[in-house]
Amino acid sequence: MKNIYSNILSFNKHCLLKIVKLLRKDTLVALPTETVYGLAGNAYSNSAVKKIYKLKKRPKINPLIIHYYSINDAKKDVKINQNFLKLYKNFSPGPLTYILKKKKKNKLSDLATSNLETVAIRFPNNSIIRSILKSINFPLAIPSANKSSHTSPVSALDVYDDFKKKIKIIINGGKCKIGLESTVVDLAGKLRILRPGLITAKEIEKVLRKKVTLNKKSKKILSPGSLKKHYSPGIPLKLNVRKAPKKYAFITLGKKYPVTKNSFNLSLNSDLNEAAKNLYSTLRKIKKLKYKKIYVVKIPKSKIGLAINDRLKRAAN
Ligand code: AMP
Ligand code: MG
Repeated sequence: MKNIYSNILSFNKHCLLKIVKLLRKDTLVALPTETVYGLAGNAYSNSAVKKIYKLKKRPKINPLIIHYYSINDAKKDVKINQNFLKLYKNFSPGPLTYILKKKKKNKLSDLATSNLETVAIRFPNNSIIRSILKSINFPLAIPSANKSSHTSPVSALDVYDDFKKKIKIIINGGKCKIGLESTVVDLAGKLRILRPGLITAKEIEKVLRKKVTLNKKSKKILSPGSLKKHYSPGIPLKLNVRKAPKKYAFITLGKKYPVTKNSFNLSLNSDLNEAAKNLYSTLRKIKKLKYKKIYVVKIPKSKIGLAINDRLKRAAN
């Protein structure tokens, strides 16, 4: 029998060599990170970056996050500052993305940064992606491995669902630990959070001893991940409800909600980290079950709950 998932591979030495070879030839691969699955290409190559935008159908005005192995690698392309150094020490490698100014002589593809003077960089904390980054001498441009504006993938099968065989290799690294995209912090202009995530404004304030604002509304696209319609499961969502009609999917949190055929509990223990990890896979599951509408209970706005609310609001748009 033919294996339809033949492009989903588990990671080992042989696979690493294959991937390095592909990346050097500007071919894209999908790989796990601790946040969501990513679609990776050589960030120094216009041809590789072009393929990312094309495959995702991503608007060219939405710049990509550049992933580095170490601070020394990043220093070649970006201007670092004190705030960055402090945050790097505390949170990297990990789910925090920094916006910094590009160096004049940087090697990054202009397309990857949408011709901006700034660039988003991250040091991912997942052993698979780290061993890949260590084996190549260029950084990787990696957006989430989904079609633009869809729900982000948190497993290799999610990636397969969106792209089938259009990606040569999808590395299977199990379910993502965090399940939501990284926090984006602006360190190039006014100190602020452009996209909430696991690492909160409060934690960043504690390290920097400075006020960090949450970017609510802005006219310009400061962080296009903040484009209004994003992370959409393609079904209408109704947020902050107490109950739901039986014919619609009902996303709940905690033990106080009844377990019914149409209910999907994000975390029985009301653990927000667990809820974040389950959010996208739950949205995908509901879509596959062909529900026409999703009702969602109120999710507390503390810690990663803020990021969950942010994504739900955008998915509802
Ligand atoms: P993703 O869409 O998951 O790849 O996330 C990338 C996020 O980083 C998006 O919200 C981008 O808008 C944001 N981003 C990338 N580069 C920049 C930049 N130079 N300035 C502000 N936001 C950026
Ligand atoms: Mg994305």
